[in-house]
Amino acid sequence: MPWCEDCSKYWTPSAMKADGTCPTCGRDVDAAAVRTQEVVDDETSPWHFKLLVVALVLYLGWRVVDLFI
Ligand SMILES: [Zn+2]
Repeated sequence: MPWCEDCSKYWTPSAMKADGTCPTCGRDVDAAAVRTQEVVDDETSPWHFKLLVVALVLYLGWRVVDLFI
């Protein structure tokens, strides 16, 4: 989804101008969307984050079981 940083707004491809710029401020929205994607790709989940997620799931599962005991 194209994101305009200046307007803080997502644009659908059909809502943008034909040249891929923001209809409100004229910023090149496509370039910003590509840059955001690169940032996301650089982030790798550290092992302790995965461990935290697993622990959270186990904890919530135990809480649900505890309700019915
Ligand atoms: Zn804009």
